[in-house]
Amino acid sequence: MRKSAALLALLLVLTAAGASPAAVIPAAKAPCDLVVVAGSALPMDASFTVRGETAVAIRDGEILALGTPAEIDAAYLPKERLVRAGGVLLPGFVNAHTHAAMNLLRGISNDQPLMEWLTKYIFPAEGKNVSPAFVRAGTDLACLEMIRGGTTTFADMYYFESDVAASVDKAGLRAILGETWIDFPVPGHANLEETRTVTRAFLERWKGHPRITAAISPHAPYTCSRETLQAARSLADEFGAPLLTHLSETQDEQKQILEKYGKSPTAWLDEVGFLGPRLSVAHGVWLTPEDMKLLVERKVSLSHNPESNMKLGSGIAPIAAARKAGVVVGLGTDGSASNNDLDMLDAMDFAGKLAKVGALDPTVLTAPEVLRMATIDGAKALGLDRLVGSLEPGKRADLIVLDLDNVHTQPVFDLPSTVVYASRAGDVSLTVVDGKVLWDGARVRTLDEAKVLAAAKEWRVKIQKSLEESGKKK
Ligand SMILES: [Zn+2]
Repeated sequence: MRKSAALLALLLVLTAAGASPAAVIPAAKAPCDLVVVAGSALPMDASFTVRGETAVAIRDGEILALGTPAEIDAAYLPKERLVRAGGVLLPGFVNAHTHAAMNLLRGISNDQPLMEWLTKYIFPAEGKNVSPAFVRAGTDLACLEMIRGGTTTFADMYYFESDVAASVDKAGLRAILGETWIDFPVPGHANLEETRTVTRAFLERWKGHPRITAAISPHAPYTCSRETLQAARSLADEFGAPLLTHLSETQDEQKQILEKYGKSPTAWLDEVGFLGPRLSVAHGVWLTPEDMKLLVERKVSLSHNPESNMKLGSGIAPIAAARKAGVVVGLGTDGSASNNDLDMLDAMDFAGKLAKVGALDPTVLTAPEVLRMATIDGAKALGLDRLVGSLEPGKRADLIVLDLDNVHTQPVFDLPSTVVYASRAGDVSLTVVDGKVLWDGARVRTLDEAKVLAAAKEWRVKIQKSLEESGKKK
């Protein structure tokens, strides 16, 4: 059956290339789990194909074939067939950097510089509240937001990541989840020894999961010592696990590291042996041309977080230059405490426009380039591009449909520009991960939305109370 499905997929590719459908499609229909039909499609393949009416057939979580609805209907008999005539079919978005559980801290501190925001508000609020229950409630809320907004994969850095993983597993999303390492006691681990033990158990626990990859996340060069960074690299190498960190986010960080170690944060990470394969760094706002060269040489990818960089006043990351230098760049939202949402359509819009205003040049970072960053390049940045990031036979079925029949999206002259500059998260009418429908435009099928929202409201009361109590003690 599998062989014949592969043959069918090949025939349909040939058909799409111009052969006559009647000549190549056999009469017997192959069973499949799901067929999705959309008015147009941007599969994000290497040649950036823009398609008209498109259908995709899915079985066992895998994309079997992409073709016209007539071709797919003639070849496949699905258990479920979903039609989105006014929509564009896309691979799901890859959010290359976030802190999902921080959805519970959305809006807790605003209009502050990064170091103040972190040390006066975020670290204290986390110290008093972060627990497995907090992390599960926050991640549930984040998963709901991501599923409804078309994100199918995300890279996360937080604490109690085994609990984050349990929440993601239930929600049905795909994720790279990094347990945070930091040089002061945090909920869950008090010192490097404990951090290593907790992380080792986490890596063991989720080994081999089809959608969840356990990773290690030293927080940043200014919060992690040489010993911490080296221990993280060595454990990651032992497990072949991904590494995630923050790098060159602010000018302050550049200064601090230069004063302490006599070099840029990137050069410092290289000196301690931390740079290398399977590492993705977030921000890179203050990367120099030499830093970019190092990232390329060491096969390190970058995630761009335009909204967080704008809100914290961190600066404009040199994304066009980094891409030109050969750095693989994905797109991220960062956490909801510094954005304040996980909306990848917003992130795309800002990424494009911020690059243009930074360069005083509207030709830099085009809509197709931004769309690549949010899909296939994001998958590449996380080492997942053989599985996801584009819609091609043989890849996992992570896909979305964006409704274009809206007053803010019609008429459509140019699909990529409509998606990047005009579409909104609320336009997502279908989200599928690993072949499973998570959002059908009316209901999230894996989570109880009312329950998740009620829990978030309860947590706001608890967090507020904990901050007031600590204020009284001072
Ligand atoms: Zn971050």
